[in-house]
Amino acid sequence: MDRHTWMYKISRATQEYIDGVEKFIQCAEENLKKKKEHGKEDRITCPCHDCYNLKKYSSVATIREHLFRRGFMAGYTKWIWHGEGIHSEKTRTSDGNRRSNEDIREEDLGNEEEPPQDDMA
Ligand SMILES: [Zn+2]
Repeated sequence: MDRHTWMYKISRATQEYIDGVEKFIQCAEENLKKKKEHGKEDRITCPCHDCYNLKKYSSVATIREHLFRRGFMAGYTKWIWHGEGIHSEKTRTSDGNRRSNEDIREEDLGNEEEPPQDDMA
């Protein structure tokens, strides 16, 4: 089942949604771990319908609860605030050189910027 389907098209009471949220939480936690190592951030932005990635929580349990209660914000099928870097796809150069701006990119994903709209398939 693709993300757009379980995130927006089916009931939040389904096993698919529950599994999907768990997957999201794992992704967010891994991302948080990485950020903590860099001493950057110790909370996770909540992508629920109401928080809209504008609010942060230190407990994934809170976020999980929001996602079950409210569902995901619209158009968030690419979890760019939770470790799915846009840089991993877009800044890779064809000759295989790693761009040195990866870290800066992470910083750029601060709170001010709007996430790019997903071109929903
Ligand atoms: Zn929330």
